This record gives sequence, structure tokens and C-alpha cells, in this order.
Amino acid sequence: MTAQVELYDTTLRDGAQGPGLSYSVEDRLRILHKLDQLGVPFVEGGWPGSNPRDTEFFRLATEEALKHATLTAFGMTRKAGEAATASPVLRHLLEAGTEVVCIVGKAWDLHVTETLRTDLDEAVAMVRDSVAFLRGEGRRVFFDAEHFFDGYRSDRSFALRVLRAAEDAGAERLVLCDTNGGMLPNDVARIVGEVWAGVETPLGIHVHNDAGCAVANSLVAVEHGVRQVQAVVNGYGERTGNADLIPIAANLTLKMGAECLPDGSIERLTEVAHYVAEVANLAPDSRQPFAGRYAFTHKAGLHASGVERLARAYEHVDPEAVGNRSGVVASDLGGAATLRMKAAEFGLELSDGAVPRTLEELMEREARGYTFEVADASLELLMRRASGWRQPFFEVDSYRVHVEERVGDDEPPLAEATVKVVTKGTRHIESAEGHGPVGALDNALRKALVNDYPELEHIALEDFRVRVLDETHGTGAVVRVLIDTSNGRAGWTTVGVSENIIEASWEALVDGYLFGLLHPRDAA
Ligand SMILES: [Zn+2]
Repeated sequence: MTAQVELYDTTLRDGAQGPGLSYSVEDRLRILHKLDQLGVPFVEGGWPGSNPRDTEFFRLATEEALKHATLTAFGMTRKAGEAATASPVLRHLLEAGTEVVCIVGKAWDLHVTETLRTDLDEAVAMVRDSVAFLRGEGRRVFFDAEHFFDGYRSDRSFALRVLRAAEDAGAERLVLCDTNGGMLPNDVARIVGEVWAGVETPLGIHVHNDAGCAVANSLVAVEHGVRQVQAVVNGYGERTGNADLIPIAANLTLKMGAECLPDGSIERLTEVAHYVAEVANLAPDSRQPFAGRYAFTHKAGLHASGVERLARAYEHVDPEAVGNRSGVVASDLGGAATLRMKAAEFGLELSDGAVPRTLEELMEREARGYTFEVADASLELLMRRASGWRQPFFEVDSYRVHVEERVGDDEPPLAEATVKVVTKGTRHIESAEGHGPVGALDNALRKALVNDYPELEHIALEDFRVRVLDETHGTGAVVRVLIDTSNGRAGWTTVGVSENIIEASWEALVDGYLFGLLHPRDAA
């Protein structure tokens, strides 16, 4: 089978419903760009009007230059008894300014009579009017038929009427949703096949993982005629999550001969999976098919030596095909080839001697809890250091921070930091305050450096994220800090790891400044 399959990513909308997930507008833009680089053709950005963050995201994202991805906005049909022209939801959808919109409508009679408390004819009209209205406003429309599979089993003629209403009104895709996530592959195969025989419009599939079958259901739907697959990177989403885009893309490409991403993109799946986990501030799933750290890690002994002799006898695909690797300690960045590619991105040329040194350093650091998927700036510094580079800008003598809380007053605790550094032969001692210890250290370091490096005035700490890692190291838990720094034109991320949160923050902070000095914003 050779088919064109269209991936529709909903990490930023349906996937953002997962417990413990909260993406800032910046996070969303990062994920959008990562998916664009990967070559995902449709990226759903959110539900405009549902909250200020979604609205702000669309304002910024519609101005971004995207190479592969078309940004889409999500909403629902007009309400029962409402005119489409009067629907605030549809108006917000138009205001998002995307070329493509996706709207959801009810396809299960039970929901119409019990949740919407209206009749089936009105439910069909809600879909038809809403699609027609959006088409009239010049939008391309995808239609998500909510609870389609349950609806089809309950009242097949109603479920099909809903689809036909969307089709007649001009929807470009009819997306069959297993919203409760309980379907098994056999059900999906049969129902998709039956529906496909009766409509002209390309179908899509959107499934949740409540029965543990989301990936299987998505693949079987493709086999039975579905063109579009809606999925979420790492399968995040409410309850047990959405269908995971990573194994879906890998299986489609490597096993089903389908084209779903540009050439060369599949090799980046592992990196993208880990990147999105880092932005979500969740530990990457070590057992995730294809991308997990253990996905190709064989247990030691006979089996492992067998792998060395004849990998294909023990591995379902070549781990490098998805940017992963086999081995006991799997470096997230894979082997020498990936490393060279990364170095080229930074404009560095790694000497032959530097490659094994960098790999060794990387693996050693990853074992201690570092992660470099997001922290590109730290990775560049690590590569430079492994090649023998020593930073010429400043030397740190010492730093100190204390936090004072006056018990009983309403003011937040105040932090004060003192930093001693040497720049160009001169010793600077500077103190500064901040709302937290990291803010105070940042202010003091900037003050100490700005004498000799006035360009650092533009540098600002934008965000920092802390994660306590599960792996315990000696007596204490290890803390990883990621810091985002910006010079007003470009932003970068650095990482620090320690049992001490201040030390981890300091490491990330210093590397953030170093990177800023290496890449001044006024350089061409
Ligand atoms: Zn959903």
C-alpha cells in the first residue's frame, strides 16, 4: 500500500487537556515551530475565545512564517436555536484569522437528546448552518463528528445525516471521532469501511486511548480509507490520552509504506517526542514505542550480544530510522551522525577527536539528569568545550544569595545576591535584589558583567522551569533547571543540574549569559 496520509496535530488543543499540562504562549509557539520543522501539514493551535491565552497565541502565531504547517483553529457549531451569524464561538473562530478551521458537532443521538436537549433535525441543522457560514466567510472547514462511533452504533442514520450535512455544506474533511476512546480495531475497521462507501469527502480519524487502542485504531482506519489522522505528540490528553503521533508516524512510514512526513523527518521523531515532553515539563516516557529511552535497549547478556551480531533478529525497526539508538545507555541525541548534524546547525565543525569526547560527555551528563533537547545553547557550549574551547569572557570567584522573610508582613520574601566576577583583569563585586533567589542572582550577575559588556543590558531572564528528577543521586533528589534567556531579538535555553537548586540555577544562568556574549544581538 502506498498512500498519502495527512497528519493533523492537536497537541496544542485536545492534547493540552491532559492533567498537569499548562502551556504558556511561548511554549505553544515553540511546539508550533517544532512541528513545522518536522513537516506536519496541519497544526491545531487551540480554541480561540475559550481563554485569553488561546486568543493571544493566535494573534502571534498567525504572523509567524511557517514552512510546512498550516495553522488551524478549533471551535464548535452554533448552539441549538441560535443563528450561525449570531454565534460568538463561530465569530471567535473567524477572528483567529486562520485559513483552515475545524469545528466539532454531535453525531450521537444520545448526546443530542440528553445533553443538548434538542431534536435530531436541529442537531443536523446546527452542523449544516455552521459549516455553510464558515465557508461563506472564505474558510476551509474540517468537521469533527463527535462520538461518531458510538453514534453510529446507536442511530446509524442520524450519524450519517450529520456527516452528509457537513459534506453538503462544503466541509473538506469528515473526521470520525472516538471521543470516549472505547472502540476496538475491528469496530473501527468495519465502520470506517461502511462510511467510506457512502461519502465523497475524504475522511479523518480522531481517537482517544481509553481502551489502549488509539494507535491501532488510527492505523486500521488508514487501511480502510481514512486520509487524515488527528493525533497528539506523546499521546497527551485527558484521561488516558489521545492517539500518539510518534508511533503513528513511524508505523505509517516504516511499516505501511504511507507518506505522511517529508523525507528525512522520521529520523527526528525521537528528538521531537523528547522536545515536546521537555516543553510540557513532563519526564519523557522511557517506554514510549520508537522514541523511548528503552525502546531499543536490550537486557544484558546473551540477548544483547545477539543484538550486536544481528540487530534485525531482535529489533522491529532500525532504531536510527526514528533517531533513536540501541544500547544500555541511550543518549537522547543518538550517535555521531546526529551530533555532527547538530553541530552544523550551530555553525560548528567538530573535529574527529571531538566527536567521541562530546558523545562521552553527553552520555555522562544525561546519566546525571541533564537534557539537551530543549537546551540547545548548553549543547552548543558543551560541544565547544569538548573541542578544547575555553570561554574568554569572565571568571566567577563566588556567588551568594539569601532570602529574607519578615514574618507577619504581607510583602513577599525578598532575595539578595552578591556576585564576585573577574572580567578583563578587573574584579567586580555586585549585589542586587530580586523577587526570588534566581532573579536576584540574575540581577547581580548582569550588574557585574555589564561594566565590560554593555550589550548585556538587553539580556533578560524570561522563564525558568524546575523539575525534581526521580533518579536519586546519593542522598538527595536531583534538580534540573531550564532557563530561557532573551536579548530581545533571539531567545535560547540552558540547563543546570545539581542536588542544590541554587547551584543548578546558577549553572544554567551563567551559560545563558555566556551564550549571549558568544552571539551578540547586533552581530550580523
Ligand atoms: Zn478528542
